[in-house]
Amino acid sequence: MAAHRPTPQLPEHLEALYRAFPFDRSLAEDPISAVRPLARDPRSAEAAAVFAALLAIGNTTAIRGAVGHLGEIADGDFGGFVSRMAPAERRRRLRSFRHRWIRGDQVDYLARVLGAYYAAHSSLEETFLDGYVAHGFAGGIDALAQTLRGTTLRRRLGPAPRGYTALFPSPLEMPRSPCKRLTLFVRWMVRDRYPDLGLWHRVPAGELRVPLDLHVHWIAYHIGLTARKSRSWAAVEEVTEALRRIDPLDPIRYDFVLCHTGISGDCPKERDLAVCGPCTLRPDCLMWRGRSGAT
Ligand code: SF4
Repeated sequence: MAAHRPTPQLPEHLEALYRAFPFDRSLAEDPISAVRPLARDPRSAEAAAVFAALLAIGNTTAIRGAVGHLGEIADGDFGGFVSRMAPAERRRRLRSFRHRWIRGDQVDYLARVLGAYYAAHSSLEETFLDGYVAHGFAGGIDALAQTLRGTTLRRRLGPAPRGYTALFPSPLEMPRSPCKRLTLFVRWMVRDRYPDLGLWHRVPAGELRVPLDLHVHWIAYHIGLTARKSRSWAAVEEVTEALRRIDPLDPIRYDFVLCHTGISGDCPKERDLAVCGPCTLRPDCLMWRGRSGAT
């Protein structure tokens, strides 16, 4: 299965898209906007990022609403939410919380898992690195998934709520999943370029993998970064490898831009000259292959 071939100028076209991109407009639509204000307190920001990534399902308005609501429940202090808030009070506040299929009792269990974790560790980077050293990036995501599932804490925390474990897929166990949410969380923690937080310092940005959501996958497929029509960990690796050939030190540089080009409607996902006209990727896009409008 060969990927559609982009033009040799794809790197320049991606960079032009990046340079002209209205980051501030799209930042407001992105769950990281709720985490960035906490960056001066790395523990609180890391915990907030875990929850924000967990809730990054569905349309941006609903995600923003859910992350904002959780921030209010946590009084804006996610470090305190997981480590100091009285368990009964946290349970009470989360009783009616729901975002898509994620329920308040699952969020509460995650808070308990994180509280127990932070009692013995300074950052989830430690866990990621343990898995990363043993099995590469996928091993790091697997280690995070295992930790957040709280499997080793069951005796102390009791059984996890229904459906909880499935919230944290691992690429080593479920290669058919792109594991987007944990991969996104790690991007936020590792990259130190806007809009990411750069709170972790021992994982090289060149090792990151693309958080392959529907928008990024659609554009990646149509500009020839992958021949895979469905999202999977293999597609994550393939898109990342193509991006790494463009920028080995920062392969995920274009992730935010590709994602929000799709979210904002700047990419109609069909051939529409009125919208595609200004798109710098048009010469590379499968939608425009062989069309005079592609030049
Ligand atoms: S040319 Fe149009 S369909 Fe193709 S990536 Fe650009 S905006 Fe999307």
